[in-house]
Amino acid sequence: MATVQSEIPQFVDIAIVGAGPQALTVVTHLLQKKKSLRNRFAVIDPAGEWMQQWHHQFAALDIPHLRSPAVHHPDPDPHALRTFAESRPRELFPPYDLPGTQLFREFCQNVIGRWHLEDRVIPGFVKHIEIEQQSDRQQFRLLMATGKTLKARRVVLAIAGGTPHYPSWVQSTIAPRDRLLHSHNIDLRGLQLEGERVLIVGSGLTSGHLAVGAIARGAEVIMMARRQFYEKLFDADPGWLGPKYLKGFRAESHGEKRWQMIQSARNGGSLTPAILTQLRRLARSGKLTFYEHCQVKQAQWKGEAWQVHCENREVHDCIAHLPIDRLWLATGSQLDIQQWSVLSEVRETYPLPTLHGLPVLDEHLRWPGCELFIMGGAAALQLGPVARNLFGGRMASRRIVPALVKNTIARSSSSLSVAG
Ligand SMILES: Cc1cc2nc3c(=O)[nH]c(=O)nc-3n(C[C@H](O)[C@H](O)[C@H](O)COP(=O)(O)OP(=O)(O)OC[C@H]3O[C@@H](n4cnc5c(N)ncnc54)[C@H](O)[C@@H]3O)c2cc1C
Repeated sequence: MATVQSEIPQFVDIAIVGAGPQALTVVTHLLQKKKSLRNRFAVIDPAGEWMQQWHHQFAALDIPHLRSPAVHHPDPDPHALRTFAESRPRELFPPYDLPGTQLFREFCQNVIGRWHLEDRVIPGFVKHIEIEQQSDRQQFRLLMATGKTLKARRVVLAIAGGTPHYPSWVQSTIAPRDRLLHSHNIDLRGLQLEGERVLIVGSGLTSGHLAVGAIARGAEVIMMARRQFYEKLFDADPGWLGPKYLKGFRAESHGEKRWQMIQSARNGGSLTPAILTQLRRLARSGKLTFYEHCQVKQAQWKGEAWQVHCENREVHDCIAHLPIDRLWLATGSQLDIQQWSVLSEVRETYPLPTLHGLPVLDEHLRWPGCELFIMGGAAALQLGPVARNLFGGRMASRRIVPALVKNTIARSSSSLSVAG
């Protein structure tokens, strides 16, 4: 159980907002580089402890192991997880030693303990960040939802920051709350689905986890996707973790072209080969039906069940005659930093260009003009398609930590062009 640091200090050198894996990664890298910073930073997260959102999503979707291999984790030593797992080889899953959920949880706990970070997360939700300019010095004032404040010279935002994406037909749909849910709000634990039919929309790994979980709880499942379900080991080709693809990405000075490279590298949602095999087996046993090249046109709640009309009837039998008990949307999330209310004043004081909702940061992932750094998916224009993943946390730390340690001043700007 984590010890919670309840008192908010009045001033810190570095405030890290968010306590997920990305924040943990930057903290371990920071301490590895400069131990003396130990008492000069604070981490703020509503949970008051590390990794709560991560653990919640794995438990709620009943995910047995990670999609990424054992070298991806928050400790600076890439081999640390393998060493930790030496006596637990069965918890590293093929084909590339994918860590089991419990193993990864205990490893992260071990990382937190080894770096003495147990009591470093202050409970709080940062609602707003203000900039205070005092002659030649600039500092930030972080306003918490509770009304408390924290002043900091530098800020690292590690808040992930995506919001659930809802297809347009949802807007005109009225239903009991638990009958239409985005994956973000689904918790498989405790659900009894005996005799129910669940329609899952989306083609990513989350749709696969939801289908397996719903069937294990007694449901019959229809998986619907605009495209064909397809398999891919990782979110993005491992070439994106090193120079193979990143060299060309970094050499590209046109923001729009970089954005397109990110889109085609991720190529929408995909299933892992293991899950797709499992789903095909369930389809053969009659518990699952795939509806590919198909999308919902309209869904009406008829009092006891959904009636769903879909596009592309010429490809499929319509499912309008099948009563659907639950509609689950595994339609991913969208990220637009223009919508981040926490940054409204920063945006006003230091306007910066964005592309498809992503900021154009400098090479240290710093908001040009001030000492605010952003990691996670929002740094994708600088880091590439894996920015939001565990490895993206490592890449971001390598950029941010030198600026925090050397105390460079925010004079640099991005060389990325956003002109059309
Ligand atoms: C189901 C699922 C499985 C995944 N599996 C993998 C995998 O196997 N490998 C991989 O590399 N990636 C995986 N990812 C992608 C990614 O690594 C995770 O989403 C990861 O949690 C991202 O880390 P993060 O620290 O950016 O965000 P989070 O884990 O979401 O942490 C952000 C934290 O910031 C807090 N926060 C937000 N706003 C504020 C605020 N204003 N003030 C204070 N705190 C705030 C949140 O409460 C949260 O605790 C997975 C994603 C999902 C959804």
